[in-house]
Amino acid sequence: MKTRKRYSVLALLAAGGIGAALGFVLNEPRPAVALARASAVAPAPAAQPAADGKLRIIFFGAHPDDSEYRGAGVAMKWAKAGHHVKLVSTTNGDIGHWREAGGPLALRRTKEVVEVGRQLGVATEVLDIHDGEIMPTLENRRIITRLIRQWNADVVITNRPNDYHPDHRYTSILVQDSAYMVTVPFFCPDVPPLQKNPVFLYSSDRFQRPNPFRADVAVAIDDVIEPTLDALLVMESQIHEGGANGHAGLFPDDEAGRQRRRDQVRKDLARRYVGYANSYRDALVRYYGQDRGRKVQYAQAFEVCEYGRQPSEDELKKMFPF
Ligand SMILES: [Zn+2]
Repeated sequence: MKTRKRYSVLALLAAGGIGAALGFVLNEPRPAVALARASAVAPAPAAQPAADGKLRIIFFGAHPDDSEYRGAGVAMKWAKAGHHVKLVSTTNGDIGHWREAGGPLALRRTKEVVEVGRQLGVATEVLDIHDGEIMPTLENRRIITRLIRQWNADVVITNRPNDYHPDHRYTSILVQDSAYMVTVPFFCPDVPPLQKNPVFLYSSDRFQRPNPFRADVAVAIDDVIEPTLDALLVMESQIHEGGANGHAGLFPDDEAGRQRRRDQVRKDLARRYVGYANSYRDALVRYYGQDRGRKVQYAQAFEVCEYGRQPSEDELKKMFPF
């Protein structure tokens, strides 16, 4: 196990005004993965949503922005209806910028996604595993299994395992590896197993091999698109400054230049959700009927994973009660 003179980041934002808790341990030589495991196990304010009959949804993304893009509008719709949503980043994002890296970047990105979560009305957690270094290990499988159990999830959402980024691939593999184990009593016996296996879903992507994405559910987000864009645009390090592949010219120092960039990225982001609506129009029509389905401007789509509970069409509609 590696030990490095680095830092730890755990950010947890509880929905519904429970409050935000941020813990930073600076410059302590600690094994990063063990620390992340400890943070995942530690009881936290938002670890157990109220057992109030509402849905409990947990998203896993590799970096502090992935769950946010994938959750976005649908997370806000669930939250507005009183359902409990959590967005998890499985790495701390500490190499996700062209100019800065390490602890300060992990802190900056954590603050960004905590604010996104606050605006969407959902809980946020960032695990302290280095960006670019997550592996599908047994230890990480335990972390993911515990998080799903602690959230008592009905629905688990991640990206598909065929993806350009190794952290995305391995995060998806880890979620898949937990899709059965969450129900097995003597795997991680310190956290009670789920009595009912959640439904596992993949968010949409453009990858064609080994098989293209299939839209089993599509959700119109027209009614929440503006506050959703407002929330996502909080992630300046990634969106305005371009993240790992950005450069200084993208987000200039002068206010006029910065405003131009803000307008541009907002348009680009909106276009992304327009693209989903057009790509998954058939699923929108199936879900909303011809009239409404054809008119949807902004959407998100999800595919049912073959692992975990296999929902009927009826059950799926109950999980997306929009
Ligand atoms: Zn990512």
